[in-house]
Amino acid sequence: MSNTRQLAKTLPCLFKDIVDKYPESQLRPCKTDSQTWKHASAPAAVVRINKLAKYFPELSLLNNCLEDYSICVNHYNQIVATNNFYQSLLNSDPSNVSSIQKNKRVIFAFNYYFYIILFLSHIHLITIFFRRFNLIKS
Ligand SMILES: [Zn+2]
Repeated sequence: MSNTRQLAKTLPCLFKDIVDKYPESQLRPCKTDSQTWKHASAPAAVVRINKLAKYFPELSLLNNCLEDYSICVNHYNQIVATNNFYQSLLNSDPSNVSSIQKNKRVIFAFNYYFYIILFLSHIHLITIFFRRFNLIKS
């Protein structure tokens, strides 16, 4: 019985090219001299890769050939074993602003328009006052 699945160590790290392409992403460099490699097609890795595909479109292109990739120990620890990296992406994503922050923005906008209306109504009152004053005077 032959094992067609290659050893994870012999496969390239899935994140190698992404590290080069997104230097601002705070992804660690690959650790190629380690004995610890994980298959990119491992269930825990697949779940995380699917989530990250929103931020790194290359990952969704590779999604159908995860069998051909592994994950080095650095990237396994940073991306699959811990949630911190994914969480930092979520926090920096403007489409994921929490509802509290959204509410603050609404309140700020409301206050802003309230003061404009207040200001305009004062101008209106002052105008009325001056018109009356002129009428009395004339
Ligand atoms: Zn790597």
